[in-house]
Amino acid sequence: MKTIVTILIFVLSVSGYGQTLLTPECVFDGRKIHDNWIVLVEGNTISYVGVKTELKLPKNTKEINLKGMTLMPGLIEGHSHLLLHPYNETDWNDQVLKESPTERAIRATVHAKNSLLAGITTTRDLGSEGAGYTDVYLKKTIEDGIVLGPRMLVAGPAIVATGAYGPKGFHDGVTVPLGAEPTSGVDEVIKTVRRQLGNGADFIKIYADYRWKKGAPSQPTFLQEEINAMVATATTAGSYVVAHASTPEGMRRAIIGGVETIEHGDGGTLEVFKLMKEKGVALCPTLAAGDAIEGYRGWKKGIDPDPDRITKKKASFKRALQSGVTIVFGGDVGVFTHGENYRELEMMVRYGMQPIRVLQSATSGNATVFHLDNLGELKKGFLADIIAVEGNPVKDISKMRKVRFVMKNGTLLKNE
Ligand SMILES: [Zn+2]
Repeated sequence: MKTIVTILIFVLSVSGYGQTLLTPECVFDGRKIHDNWIVLVEGNTISYVGVKTELKLPKNTKEINLKGMTLMPGLIEGHSHLLLHPYNETDWNDQVLKESPTERAIRATVHAKNSLLAGITTTRDLGSEGAGYTDVYLKKTIEDGIVLGPRMLVAGPAIVATGAYGPKGFHDGVTVPLGAEPTSGVDEVIKTVRRQLGNGADFIKIYADYRWKKGAPSQPTFLQEEINAMVATATTAGSYVVAHASTPEGMRRAIIGGVETIEHGDGGTLEVFKLMKEKGVALCPTLAAGDAIEGYRGWKKGIDPDPDRITKKKASFKRALQSGVTIVFGGDVGVFTHGENYRELEMMVRYGMQPIRVLQSATSGNATVFHLDNLGELKKGFLADIIAVEGNPVKDISKMRKVRFVMKNGTLLKNE
């Protein structure tokens, strides 16, 4: 209740003014850090970014002093599942089998609010995981102003090869709801892509590899011609395809087929990452997901030695950095708590990426990869999605844990 009241007060206090002047300690504009810069917001748009001396302040300008803080573009999460909650609360199978899409939608409204207040002003949601098109409806209710949440790009149900996805463990006579829509054969995959786009998916997510049996290693799923057909169908419709893939062959097929991003990419070889760079395919490494899952399995980080999965992931992320492939910030949040998206930022740094590059990835980088022309930078004419943290996150990435100030589309939602 307190939050709602607080939000109302902020919204009211800003809406009475024509312009809002934000005066922080420094500004990260999505590319670089600048000292002594200010940002002016008019309506839902950024009208000025730069040094204060060059600016003639319009009358009725409201000033918000953000002393000691770094102002930056709202973060763009690259891989979320707002319809999932952490697997140590309820495992994935039970969420898909036992929680109705209605329950999951109600939970998702809370996840969406928590994400936004943690500085995620845009999220690319990578599949409803058995909740059909609930992501499309969540996006609609956020856009209608019914619930608070980030701007959303949604995948809808996502697409798997027949037989290749869970929940598994039932005999063949039992029909269970699946975590994605199964399809096979060129004609059928084309239909499935068209249906999903027609039902509101912004883009198509496919699983280019997956484990065929419980506990087995991942194997490729779709044939090359099926992937090619799905990409051609999506691009014809002005959309695009992204692929879950962790095996070199699954990744290779998806890259050759023309997907725009590879999700996870755990088993990527240097050769495969170089092929991605060459073809302009970006990698969303989802470091925080594997880290969380190993924790749920009993791994005590910092005390126990790294499990095999973590050792391999660190090595493959190093290969990815070495190859020069574009890195997308995206943690697979939903596997862990919504609003703790900073975990991925911290892990990207810990696994070897420069902090400034991590912050670029989470803002201007993801905006470019996701075709968001007026987001991801503090720049004149861009939408006013702006956040602030204390201190300088380039020097200490853990500052991203506490987002103090959140503005989305020019509306102030948090200032503490
Ligand atoms: Zn995911």
